[in-house]
Amino acid sequence: MVKVGVLGLQGAVREHIWAVEAAGAEAVVIKKVEQLENLDGLILPGGESTTMRRLIDKYNFMQPLRDFAAAGKPMFGTCAGLILLANNLVGYEEPHLGVMDITVERNSFGRQRESFEAKLAIKGVADDFIGVFIRAPHIVSVGDGVEVLSEHDGRIVAARQGQFLGCSFHPELTEDHRMAQYFVNMVKELKA
Ligand code: GLN
Repeated sequence: MVKVGVLGLQGAVREHIWAVEAAGAEAVVIKKVEQLENLDGLILPGGESTTMRRLIDKYNFMQPLRDFAAAGKPMFGTCAGLILLANNLVGYEEPHLGVMDITVERNSFGRQRESFEAKLAIKGVADDFIGVFIRAPHIVSVGDGVEVLSEHDGRIVAARQGQFLGCSFHPELTEDHRMAQYFVNMVKELKA
């Protein structure tokens, strides 16, 4: 069985744990750097990217997370987690982890649509996935090695670049675990 961690500094952590377990993998909440060591994959949850970044720095997670990525291990960023993965953020000089070749804009669906649900077609996942968007970012553009998996209203809301998977919405907030299953399958394939 593969072991998937969920970074547990802030945000929607529990729901990802349940989703990963439902997808047939072992799930662990990661609160300390040492726990990264024997993981096969890691989820960066949704929440508030600026708060998460502050806690990443406070608990010295930045370099270990970059090392985790450099080791080729799979990482899945949802919402704020997507913002953490991106190597370019609209309006910011520096990215956070900066490991995935995408440009992301924060809070980009506008005030009137602070949160909403939308039925999404996600390549390799489902044609009818209900995406829960909460002050969601979107992917403005992707680099050469990045595959766009889903768009909504002409905006990219899910993408994959080899070991990296990212989405604008919160797949863990519904009972539909097909997105978690997609990531768990990625983790299994990359481990094998
Ligand atoms: N708006 C948040 C941010 O910029 C992301 C929202 C979320 O993760 N639901 O970090």
